[in-house]
Amino acid sequence: MEDSDAALIKKIENLKKSRNVIFLVHNYQLGEVQDIADLIGDSLELSQKAAKTNADVIVFCGVQFMAETASILCPDKIVLLPDLHAGCPMADMITAERLQEKKKEHPGARVVCYVNSSAEVKAESDVCCTSANAVRIVEKLTDAEEIIFVPDQYLGNYVSSQTGREMILWPGFCPTHTRIRVQDITRLKAEYPQAKVVVHPECRPEVTTLADEVMSTGGMIKFARETDAEEVIVGTEIGILYRLRKENPGKKFIPVSEQAICPRMKLITLDTILWSLENMAHQVKVPEEIRLRAKAAVDKMLEG
Ligand code: SF4
Repeated sequence: MEDSDAALIKKIENLKKSRNVIFLVHNYQLGEVQDIADLIGDSLELSQKAAKTNADVIVFCGVQFMAETASILCPDKIVLLPDLHAGCPMADMITAERLQEKKKEHPGARVVCYVNSSAEVKAESDVCCTSANAVRIVEKLTDAEEIIFVPDQYLGNYVSSQTGREMILWPGFCPTHTRIRVQDITRLKAEYPQAKVVVHPECRPEVTTLADEVMSTGGMIKFARETDAEEVIVGTEIGILYRLRKENPGKKFIPVSEQAICPRMKLITLDTILWSLENMAHQVKVPEEIRLRAKAAVDKMLEG
């Protein structure tokens, strides 16, 4: 660790203590940010933790929709996002107005909304899901005539393939996961014939069909711990490799693509975290009318 990093961390730790702060950190964050986490996890794990915390301030080291979800669940807490530009391009591919139009076209449909969406879109949805529980959530909608799944067409397509449910898919996608290509997996499988291949369901279908396991980042962390395989080819945002390698020093983790970087996730740094705590900014707060409707969809997901 550089001296300057040590000094930054000291300042961050002091402010953390005096303001009763919890750091919730997504698996795609920079290693230096993961190292100061109170909890590192996927969207589901982080929202479960946010719902139960006793801290007064939540610093969300992730992207905007994650901080909004924390605010939806904990309206009395201060939720800070260290950089306001840390948004999710996939979440921006749908708006509440466009979803309302789609609902008018399918009046009997239920709306399942991937957590990677704005609070306004969640407020227009019946139930939320993450990549860790999407299959289970859709399986439970046995009485739904039709299902509209937003905004990720590839997660929606994967859920369809696992549940046998046809769904109306919104044409959104993650620009980072679409950089994960078939030819890279094929090449790496030839190079590491003993390796297991794990990929995220935000990848294209031609990629997910090549994988041994398709799972959320939380699922990958567990898989890496439990598998007998000594080599694992990893098809998701490369920030997760830091944690995989740190927790499993005896195993080799090979990224499918070094290009699979989410630039918005990387806006959160030790510098921006310190700035955020010093200025108590940027505070993320969802207006109460939207929050209550969005919370109904998130609660339905968290109920199980
Ligand atoms: S990795 Fe993709 S889905 Fe996740 S925050 Fe970045 S752009 Fe959004």
